[in-house]
Amino acid sequence: MERARAVVTGGAGFLGSHLCERLLGEGMEVVCIDNLLTGNVSNIEHLFGVDGFTFEKYDVTNYIHVPGKVGFVLHFASPASPIDYLELPIQTLKVGSLGTHKALGLAKAKGARFLLASTSEVYGDPLVHPQPESYWGNVNPVGPRGVYDEAKRFAEAMTMAYQRFHGVSTRIVRIFNTFGPRMRAHDGRVVPAFVSQSLAGEPLTVFGDGSQTRSFCYVDDEIEGIIRVLFSEIDEPVNIGNPAEMTVLQFAETIQRLVGSQAPIEFKPLPVDDPKVRQPDISQARAYLGWEPKVSLEEGLRRTIDYFRARL
Ligand code: NAD
Ligand code: UDP
Repeated sequence: MERARAVVTGGAGFLGSHLCERLLGEGMEVVCIDNLLTGNVSNIEHLFGVDGFTFEKYDVTNYIHVPGKVGFVLHFASPASPIDYLELPIQTLKVGSLGTHKALGLAKAKGARFLLASTSEVYGDPLVHPQPESYWGNVNPVGPRGVYDEAKRFAEAMTMAYQRFHGVSTRIVRIFNTFGPRMRAHDGRVVPAFVSQSLAGEPLTVFGDGSQTRSFCYVDDEIEGIIRVLFSEIDEPVNIGNPAEMTVLQFAETIQRLVGSQAPIEFKPLPVDDPKVRQPDISQARAYLGWEPKVSLEEGLRRTIDYFRARL
């Protein structure tokens, strides 16, 4: 039987590399396209020898040509950490807008199913808590984070337009804070920041008073949720994240305890428009996908700490 073929944009990044691995595991051929802006070949080096895997270094804001049949296009390319997208504002806007357009165009040309990696950031600094998919969000379009949030909101709108106007089969996953091996130690996101600071015995940099909340999902759970959305019939956005919510300060203390570090906590200014709360309402994923996270925060953190420890 002919193998299904998937194109993964951003496939050399943190989530994209885990996704490539999983799709190969499902028996698919995988074409990974990435310009290595925030990703790294080291994330996919172990896949180069795997039958059916190919990598192309390419910027997907340009016309995307993939010869042959394609069954799935998964659009994961985008800077994703606040430091990255604040340093790369135009690239972030371009990959969310032009990149999504090109990836949708590829899906349309090939008759492929399209899946967009969207984000909890579409809810901005939410006024509804926890956040169900029906909430429209509270985003500052002209603040520094607007480059990411609005690019993803545009990407969702473009995806729905291709579904409604061109009849492309589309899926949208709203990903909430996900962590695990292959994050960059210095990408500025809170998990790699606290884990690497803690391992190095440096102070943990808590922004603001640390009372803002986040809900962290381990990468294996997130990928399982994404795969279920891909193969589901849900053509509206679905939240995939872990509802286990805690304050950033509690999170810092948890990491210190797991690492066994005596490093102090250092309070730093809160970044502009940093959301005060965030927690996914996953009723839809539970009801229609039978999905919920399985890996506890502590277990996920242990695996992540081991990964960073081996690299420091
Ligand atoms: P990442 O930075 O590790 O991966 C993004 C990848 O996209 C990188 O490999 C980068 O080189 C590539 N890329 C960027 N611009 C490109 C372009 N123009 N052409 C080709 N490749 C390009 O980040 P990640 O955490 O793996 O995020 C992957 C996707 O998931 C992103 O779309 C992000 O918005 C989304 N997401 C992630 C999280 C999370 O917690 N990790 C949360 C919400 C949404
Ligand atoms: N944060 C922090 N110290 C750091 C990095 C992040 O206190 O060194 C905070 C940040 O202000 C936010 C939360 O941790 O409230 C999550 O930040 P991250 O950049 O991981 O993702 P976000 O959810 O803000 O996109």
